[in-house]
Amino acid sequence: MDNPIEKRRLELEKYFDAKSPFALLRVAQMKRAWKHKNRRELTWWENTYIPTVVTGIHLTSKHFFHNLNLHILHLFGLCKDQKAAVTYQYPEQPRPLSARTRTRHRLTKREDGSPRCVACMMCETVCPARCIEITAGEHPDPNIEKFPQKFVLDLGKCVYCGFCVEVCPEDAIRMDTGKLNTAEYSRESMIYDKKRLMDE
Ligand code: SF4
Ligand code: SF4
Repeated sequence: MDNPIEKRRLELEKYFDAKSPFALLRVAQMKRAWKHKNRRELTWWENTYIPTVVTGIHLTSKHFFHNLNLHILHLFGLCKDQKAAVTYQYPEQPRPLSARTRTRHRLTKREDGSPRCVACMMCETVCPARCIEITAGEHPDPNIEKFPQKFVLDLGKCVYCGFCVEVCPEDAIRMDTGKLNTAEYSRESMIYDKKRLMDE
């Protein structure tokens, strides 16, 4: 069909067919158009934005003085059951983290200081971001099958899902360092090797 007007008409007809999959879309379009057309005009007083500014200042002041009064009362040991808003002076004063928060990874150690990891590759396999790379080696202790010759975790790719921690059968990897400020100046610095994961 070459006639563009006819093509457009047929296209629009699809929207008007109540049984078509586009019917709901058409209703939504009509509602939006109606709202737009019937939108109330602002009065001259509203157009000055003074009422909106005054409402904003009132709301901000209400919260400010409410919290200020509560902090003063807390100084005198009163109304301790009512919490006042707190501003954390980050990064000097880091915000307390919940015990369940997943923070930067670490590799746990045995008593002799070697990694608990047995290079089973479960974490590498389960990682959805493919950011763990392990090379397994034979452990000198016959009671331990393998150990990670190389354990590399690229934090730049990690999505902090915690799957590696969940899947580990040895409790060898944890996300409980409490460290969230992992920003670096290069991608390479975001790559953590075994030593960094054990010691930092
Ligand atoms: S937290 Fe998730 S994305 Fe990050 S290393 Fe573990 S499994 Fe991979
Ligand atoms: S799942 Fe645990 S034991 Fe297995 S390779 Fe990963 S950290 Fe090591």
